[in-house]
Amino acid sequence: MKVIKSVSLLAVGFAAAAFCSTAQAQNKQAKNVILFIGDGMGHAQVEAAVFQKYGTKRDDQGNPPKLSFEKFPFLGYTTNFSSDSFVTDSSAAGTALASGQKTNNGVLGVTPDGRKPDTIADIAKAQGQAVGILSSVGFNHATPGAFFAHSDSRNDYDEITSQVFTADNPADVLIGGGIYSKTWTDDLLEAEAAKNDIKIFTIDNLNDLTPDKVGKSRVLGYFDETNNKQLDYITSRTAASREPRLVELTTRTLDLLMARADDKGFFLMVEGGSIDWACHANMAGPAIGEVLEFDAAIAATLEVLKQRNELENTMIVVTADHETGGLTLVGPYKKTLEQAPVQYNFSSTNHTGIPVMVWAQGPGAQTLNGKNDQTHVFEAMKAAITPQAGMGR
Ligand SMILES: [Zn+2]
Repeated sequence: MKVIKSVSLLAVGFAAAAFCSTAQAQNKQAKNVILFIGDGMGHAQVEAAVFQKYGTKRDDQGNPPKLSFEKFPFLGYTTNFSSDSFVTDSSAAGTALASGQKTNNGVLGVTPDGRKPDTIADIAKAQGQAVGILSSVGFNHATPGAFFAHSDSRNDYDEITSQVFTADNPADVLIGGGIYSKTWTDDLLEAEAAKNDIKIFTIDNLNDLTPDKVGKSRVLGYFDETNNKQLDYITSRTAASREPRLVELTTRTLDLLMARADDKGFFLMVEGGSIDWACHANMAGPAIGEVLEFDAAIAATLEVLKQRNELENTMIVVTADHETGGLTLVGPYKKTLEQAPVQYNFSSTNHTGIPVMVWAQGPGAQTLNGKNDQTHVFEAMKAAITPQAGMGR
């Protein structure tokens, strides 16, 4: 009996050791972290884009058609209520994703008890990493703002802009589709930027947004040409449109970050902000166009990382801050997509409380599996760039 018992204990010991080493291997540190936020991008918005682009035909392996990030190995979903509302807004949700803290709707980077928590961008900077924050809407809008600013009101856009110049751990690259401003003129921005060794990029010098032209300076970019404070919907562009696409700004930002990150890696947040705006307006076509543009930015990112041999080192998380519009796909019923197009129904012109999906790959990504709150996205990213002793999540 004694012998058998010791053998079985040994076996248990081996099994535990094997599990431990597997978990440790999966939990190895990420050199780079990229967080893609599709603002308002519920699961219906994603699949509407899939069905528009690919229909229902299976691929050669018999799999249903997938966007780039739907091929990631880890999949979860998150609740997203705020401190004071079951249905969140982008500032409370952005704060939860950026710093792991719940706050009230309308508040940016400040907790209900008045704390200003560090963001994942702060943590990355403190470790010597390069940081980029990129959005297809205003750089001082709620979602990008949650990664660098602290304000009792998301609508205090001028204060949020001034924090670009006063932040303790400023982003190396901060780019939006536009800027919300009451008092910040181009000249004022230019003067403040010059004092802080920041180079400003607009549609007129976009081609200079390259590592050799930027050098060691920080970057502030806003590229709105039509004064709608966003990159124009991809579905409304004409041949004369000069505004860059989100996919171009994403690859340019990656180039800048990789040129200045050295061996320490980088953190990048990319927001597809116009998905939300289209869904508030209950416009399915533009919303789908923006999901596909968001997907193109992710696909291009995967390609750049692969070419630079950085794919294995990079944790990539794709999620939404909340769903917008209560979108459902109600038809066609008793017809195929070959016979009739998808029929959409929006049940709201605001956000909804539906949990949103999380797709993830790379070191640390497995901890995003299953059901979590969106604050866990911050915890998972933080754990991936700050190695902890021990196993598990
Ligand atoms: Zn919204």
